[in-house]
Amino acid sequence: MSNSPLRDFVVAVTHLVDQPHTEPEILAAVGPELAKLVARDDWLPDELAQPHPQFYRQYLLHADPLERFSVVSFVWGPGQRTPIHDHQVWGLIGMLRGQETAQPFGFAAGGRLQAQGDAVTLQPGQVEAVSPSIGDIHQVSNAWADHTSVSIHVYGANIGAVHRWTYAEDGSRKPFVSGYSNTSVPNLWDRSKENP
Ligand code: FE
Repeated sequence: MSNSPLRDFVVAVTHLVDQPHTEPEILAAVGPELAKLVARDDWLPDELAQPHPQFYRQYLLHADPLERFSVVSFVWGPGQRTPIHDHQVWGLIGMLRGQETAQPFGFAAGGRLQAQGDAVTLQPGQVEAVSPSIGDIHQVSNAWADHTSVSIHVYGANIGAVHRWTYAEDGSRKPFVSGYSNTSVPNLWDRSKENP
């Protein structure tokens, strides 16, 4: 297993965030890079694809040292789902393995949350975006009741440290900071096992 697809992705996104950009520009530029990364499923280390019996896992794969972006593997055990939540920054979700379903939410008159549009089920290789300007509140679940699913997420901040919110359908919200499930990140920099 080679880390080079992930390293190539990290290098490409580092170049992109280093240039002046608007949010639509960065989403349009990072999206194809993420699509390229999830077009193959031979690079994610097994320890960063392990489900937990009770909780979905968020493993940090890379954090930009200036916290301009972060890359996470999201690992769903059978039937697991998030609460309704937001991100506060731009994010891109690329499906690597299995399938996940995302239901967007928006505020209705009176301040309640209501489902907005149809739920979207991502297939391996597909990418979708979230952000405060294009729709930031959703609930995500493993579309599979009997298998693990894995998606790769990129966010415009160190997402595990971002102060954000979970929501109840009555529109009330609670603060949360997600943190990460792992204590060490993949070694992207050992090139000794790669072909020259
Ligand atoms: Fe989300």
